Amino acid sequence: MHKVVIIGSGCAGLTAAIYAARANLKPIVLDGHEPGGQLTLTTMVENFPGFPDGILGPELVESMRKQAQRFGAEFRSGAVSSVALKQRPFKIEAHRETFEAQTLIVAAGASARLLGIDSEKRLIGHGVSTCATCDGYFFRDKEIAVVGGGDTAMEEATFLTRFAKKVTILNRRNEFRASKIMLDRAKSNDKIKFLTPVVVEEILDPAKQDVEAVKLRNVENNQISLLPVSGLFIGIGHEPNTKVFRGQLDMDETGYLKTHSGSRTNIEGVFAAGDVQDKLYRQAVTAAGSGCMAAMDAEKFLEAHSR
Ligand code: NDP
Repeated sequence: MHKVVIIGSGCAGLTAAIYAARANLKPIVLDGHEPGGQLTLTTMVENFPGFPDGILGPELVESMRKQAQRFGAEFRSGAVSSVALKQRPFKIEAHRETFEAQTLIVAAGASARLLGIDSEKRLIGHGVSTCATCDGYFFRDKEIAVVGGGDTAMEEATFLTRFAKKVTILNRRNEFRASKIMLDRAKSNDKIKFLTPVVVEEILDPAKQDVEAVKLRNVENNQISLLPVSGLFIGIGHEPNTKVFRGQLDMDETGYLKTHSGSRTNIEGVFAAGDVQDKLYRQAVTAAGSGCMAAMDAEKFLEAHSR
């Protein structure tokens, strides 16, 4: 039986692990299918406080992991396949192992939706990005493109005009899913151009480990065109990793976990931190902050229930 089990080893899970381990709770961290979380998909992180020269995303998570291990956190690989939270102790199954826990911290994160093409996989972190706030700065005076037609794409494109010379929004339909206000804001920005209805067929050039252009297909007439860009932002939404908690933990209509009074969920003793419960801020530093809150809430819960 474990005092604290943490699901997820991104910024939120690792910060929760550091705090729980320092409180002598010997947390078990279940790595999940994307160890290290979304930071492992970025290159330079320049907005995490404490690193005036920036730090590589993978290096930042690795340091957090070592910091948690130093205080006694233990890591297990493998994705969680089922949880039983309506009983005590809670039961969590991962990689054919069953873990029993007095408290559970869910920091399973959200995954940026990707287009699913091979060149995208090969160029992520090398000109292809899923986070404008993280990577926009690297495209000063460059021409770039954003894929998507929702609020995320509009927000990212508008943000990116602070740096880029020109931002082209690529949407697969002529209509946009974005709210009118966000769409109007993007439309009134001189640096933003719209190209519809197009899909990205390929990103060039994986062999050079750099983005030079995107190959587009017009979905109405199948015409192929090449748009020269130095960067491509994928803004087609995020999916919280919450499938396994359906029917047990309260979620909003888009699948994000609902929290109240800090990191508490609808089940006493289950806490949530990071992007799995935050579709608004989604920053490494806010995820870390909420991981800290979840560990402190779990510690208080254990204290109150050990009397
Ligand atoms: P949405 O689901 O609203 O939009 C996703 C967009 O990406 C749609 O245009 C969709 O096209 C397109 N898309 C999806 N899959 C693909 C694909 N494989 N290839 C090409 N295009 C694709 O996601 P968002 O992240 O934009 O928004 C999620 C929620 O968060 C919304 O409720 C939004 O309002 C909110 N939000 C609010 C913000 C704010 O208020 N500041 C900022 C960001 C998000 P199609 O329409 O054809 O399906």
